[in-house]
This record gives sequence, structure tokens and C-alpha cells, in this order.
Amino acid sequence: MINIQRNYPLKHYNSFGLEATAQLFIETNESQELFNTLNSYNIDLNNLFVLGTGSNVLLKEPLLQTVIHPVNTDFGVIEETNDSVLVKCGAGKNWDEFVEWTVDNGYGGLENLSYIPGSVGAAPIQNIGAYGAEVSLCLESVSVIDLSTCQQFMVSRDKCRFGYRDSIFKEPTHKHWLIWEVYFLLDKDPRINLSYTPLKKEFPIGYFPGIQEVRKAVIRLRQSKLPDPIELGNAGSFFKNPVVSACNASLLQEKHPEMPTYYHEPGTVKIGAGWLIEQCGWKGFREGQVGVYPRQALVLVNYGGASADELLNLAGSIVESVKKTFGIKLETEVRIL
Ligand SMILES: Cc1cc2nc3c(=O)[nH]c(=O)nc-3n(C[C@H](O)[C@H](O)[C@H](O)COP(=O)(O)OP(=O)(O)OC[C@H]3O[C@@H](n4cnc5c(N)ncnc54)[C@H](O)[C@@H]3O)c2cc1C
Repeated sequence: MINIQRNYPLKHYNSFGLEATAQLFIETNESQELFNTLNSYNIDLNNLFVLGTGSNVLLKEPLLQTVIHPVNTDFGVIEETNDSVLVKCGAGKNWDEFVEWTVDNGYGGLENLSYIPGSVGAAPIQNIGAYGAEVSLCLESVSVIDLSTCQQFMVSRDKCRFGYRDSIFKEPTHKHWLIWEVYFLLDKDPRINLSYTPLKKEFPIGYFPGIQEVRKAVIRLRQSKLPDPIELGNAGSFFKNPVVSACNASLLQEKHPEMPTYYHEPGTVKIGAGWLIEQCGWKGFREGQVGVYPRQALVLVNYGGASADELLNLAGSIVESVKKTFGIKLETEVRIL
């Protein structure tokens, strides 16, 4: 199947609900059809991007690019041993529907990543993470299509250069790569990960939950903290948690003993960006149709009819005030296109 549209509205393809238009929109579930189309339409490869469900992007109008939207959703077990299963899933599959299927089948590893919006194909891009887990922990390899050569090849986990909300797929030199399928290695005898304290607190002390219970607890926590993009336009955390040197962190902690820090890599510490933003007085701030979500300062929201520029202006003011107050430069997690 291939569906090609010109001047295609993307309001329902981004969770901020921003008005944006793709000059050319190509939706497909067949790689060969995609190769044929790229060749026959003489598409400018430098003016093209891949869009999943748009839950981690800020789309600016006018959007000149050709947009490729993969909708291949096949998935299933392709290898099995006594301990594990190797599962393959198409890029267009809804992430949480896929996680639900793994949990229902007793395959452990992705349950902490329940209820993250988006597609399976986008999960490796920023190495999605939540509640003490990251997708890189279970990802085996990725099948990639290089849109500039129409060649398809595999990238194994050790070549993905996964980091905190980062991977090889974000590097500008790989902007022509489309993730077509993702392979996951999951446990048949799941190891429960309650390393994230708020998740651990959902269970009585000494109780060992199963993956179904972990999934339910994660969904409960997420629903209580984050706005549903269907009701209130947003893209989850707008900023990454900044990583600073351990030395810099302890100087800041002398002044702000309550500042939340998380282990990162030796010699470095991650600081809660939500806390920094809240300290600067932004939590619950609203101006016109944009604002900072009252229950989570990391989330910027569109109250309806906002423009990309309004959101970017608000983001810019937040970055400036955090820099002025704490000397820390926040980086955006959301991809600005
Ligand atoms: C309410 C809410 C909560 C969220 N919570 C979390 C969270 O807890 N943890 C977390 O990590 N993220 C979170 N996010 C962000 C988002 O859900 C993830 O980044 C998700 O993986 C994005 O998927 P998508 O299909 O919507 O990608 P899109 O937003 O469509 O695209 C994101 C980026 O990936 C690229 N891309 C997408 N698909 C492909 C592909 N197949 N091949 C190549 N490039 C591709 C795009 O070009 C773009 O640069 C949240 C978002 C929202 C709205």
C-alpha cells in the first residue's frame, strides 16, 4: 500500500496539535513501493523527514519537506529459546499496543515503558526511557532503509550509540535513515525492575509484582502526572534533564540541598529539569494559548490554536531564566522541524 498526498495537513499528526502542512506526504507499508516512489517523484532527499505519530516533534509552518510516514505494523516472535524470545516489529506499530502484547504474552523487558505515546520505529531514535528503563536495554537490532540509496541494512545494538535520549539515528549524517523494523530480545522469565522509587512505592514492601502489575502501576502513575495529548496538546518533556559534572552538582547542592539529582555516568550527574523550571516560577504559567503544565513543569502545552512560534518563545524564555538562575543551559528533547 502506498498513499501519496500533496499539501497534506498534519494537525492530526502531531501531539501539540499545531497547524502544519507537508508539501508531499507519503504513507506506506511496503519498502519496495517506497523505493519506486522516491525514484519516480524525483524527491529532494535533503528536504525530507520521517514522521511517526508526531508525539516528539514541534512542526513549524510552512513545512516544506516531503514527509514519509511508515505504517508497516507486522510483528511477532521470530526465534525462541528456553529463556528468551526474539521479536520483530514494524515501525508503524503503535508503541503501547506492542508493549501490551509483549506483557500479555509474559515477555518481560518493556513493561516499564508502558503508555509512552508514539510508534515502534521512533522508539530507538531518542532511546525512549521512563521509570528506570530505556528501550536500549531490550533492543537487539534495527532494520534501516537509507532513503538516499534505497538500501536496507541492519544496525546492531552495539552500533546504535545509545545514550540518554540519544542514538546514532539523531546524528545529522544519518538524517536519511528510516527505521523500518525493530528487533527486541525479551525475557520469558522476566526480571522486575523497580529501581525507580515512585514505581517501587506503588507496591507493599517485600511484595514481588509480575509484569502485568508493573505495567498497570506505570500506566496509573503516568495518567496521574502527564496530560493526555488528545485533551491538551503537548509532546511530553520539552527539555532533557541536564547532565553536569559531579563537582558542579555538589556546588549547586550546597545552595539547594533539595535539588533532585540522578545517577548518570561516573563523574557526572543528571539534574531534574522540571525542578529547575519550577524554581524559576514557571510551573502553571500561561500566556495566551501556551503554558507550562501545572502538574509537571517539564511539559509545555498548547491550550488550543497556539502557533509553533508561541511555544518556541516560551521555551526560549524558560531556557534564559534557568541559565540566569542556575548557570545551566537546558536542551530541548522535542525535535524542532
Ligand atoms: C504525553 C507524552 C509523554 C511522553 N513520555 C515520554 C517518556 O516517558 N519517555 C520518552 O522517552 N519519551 C516520551 N515522550 C516522547 C515520545 O512519546 C517519544 O519520543 C516517541 O518515541 C515518539 O514517537 P513518534 O512516533 O510520535 O515519533 P515522532 O514524534 O513522529 O518523531 C520523533 C523523531 O523521530 C523521527 N522518527 C520517527 N519515526 C521514525 C522512523 N521510523 N525512522 C526514522 N526516524 C523516525 C522523526 O523524524 C523525529 O525526529 C512522550 C510524549 C508525550 C506526548
